[in-house]
Amino acid sequence: MIPPALQPSALVLFSGGQDSTVCLAWALERYDRVETVGFDYGQRHRVELAARQAVLARIGGIKSAWAVRLGGDHLIALPELGRISETALTRETAIEMSAAGLPSTFVPGRNLLFLTYGAAIAYRRGLGALIGGMCETDYSGYPDCRNETLQTLGRALALGLDRPFEVVTPLMYVDKAATWGMAQRLGGQPLVDLIVEHTHTCYLGDRSHYYPWGYGCGTCPACELRAAGWLRHQHQGGQ
Ligand code: ZN
Repeated sequence: MIPPALQPSALVLFSGGQDSTVCLAWALERYDRVETVGFDYGQRHRVELAARQAVLARIGGIKSAWAVRLGGDHLIALPELGRISETALTRETAIEMSAAGLPSTFVPGRNLLFLTYGAAIAYRRGLGALIGGMCETDYSGYPDCRNETLQTLGRALALGLDRPFEVVTPLMYVDKAATWGMAQRLGGQPLVDLIVEHTHTCYLGDRSHYYPWGYGCGTCPACELRAAGWLRHQHQGGQ
């Protein structure tokens, strides 16, 4: 297969989770300069931020070209977001479904804020694309993960910054089993192993239980989704 032509540069919204790690690998295959941004908004579990550092320290070791292309990391503190959201991610409350059919982990409009902050950084750094792991196939139905939301915001950002600028979501129509498959194709077993060992998904921040798909409590919605995707990926022959 002929590799895709390299694009100039991109900023990846990188949380340290499985999806954003696959997006980072996807970007490292396609852009000749890739920087990362993460947001600290009072997550209950600092393990997410530790996972970011663990992945960033190792992903360049998978392919020498990735090490050359991987640029700086930006960590933005957004404590106000945690204060206004009062969700299960930032307070010690149970994860449950709200009357609107959204899990209580939902931070209203979170991705709109992240992408807007990301756009400001991308503008300063001369990066032409924002890449995020948002996905419509997820169980949760977050309205700020929908393709129409994100493409509309991308147009608004390009207008507001007066510069060609795009929001790219490689996982938009990819389910969790196929995300493992993407990791396999992008970085082979070393990338799959890195995701299993070092990315973090569990809502409860559990790093004490270890499963074939990685660390987690095994029972929260995020763990169930990750485990089910892994199982389907295995049944499909790990491709
Ligand atoms: Zn869990």
